Amino acid sequence: MTTRPTPRILVLSAPSGGGKTSLARALAERREDVGIAVSHTTRNRRPGETDGVHYFFVDHPVFERMIRDNRFIEYAEVFENYYGTSVDAVESLALSGRQAILDIDWQGARSVRGKFPDAVTVFVMPPSTWSLEQRLRQRGQDSEKVISQRMQEAEREMSHRDEFDEILVNDDFNRTLNQLEDIVNRMKNG
Ligand code: 5GP
Repeated sequence: MTTRPTPRILVLSAPSGGGKTSLARALAERREDVGIAVSHTTRNRRPGETDGVHYFFVDHPVFERMIRDNRFIEYAEVFENYYGTSVDAVESLALSGRQAILDIDWQGARSVRGKFPDAVTVFVMPPSTWSLEQRLRQRGQDSEKVISQRMQEAEREMSHRDEFDEILVNDDFNRTLNQLEDIVNRMKNG
């Protein structure tokens, strides 16, 4: 019988456009012992995104079959699309001795907390809602309608911040990155 490795999980949540994806990537670049669990999603690929790197892009029937086959640690519907973290994504990181960063929403964080009580959950706050809107606009990927939907969704996301173990205010990218690295170090030693 093979023993499955126990993954160490760091959940990173933030409103869309809050900078958490850049933080997760910078942390994974800085640390060989940390990797990002690549999620599956049914949403359309944005310019610059690569299948298997940013997400595994699948259609609804494929995603639903994966749900039925218990292939997800957690999944949620966000902006009318499915997003989910597969068991494989986390286990492959654990097998290579890395801690898994899950860049997921508050619903996913809640499921992970239920299944992995020693997971550490971190909420990244934008310094202000104004700066969040600026970031969404600068990204230049979304229409006005989508931006206003995302701002509403961001308010909803931020209303769950007190459920997280740590709240970091991302007013200085490098400082927030260092704070995240401190959390990773505490997880390793704890
Ligand atoms: P985006 O479409 O901007 O890439 O992501 C939209 C939202 O879905 C973000 O809040 C992101 O963290 C969340 N998300 C991405 N992957 C997953 C996942 O695997 N599970 C859950 N629950 N949320 C996810």
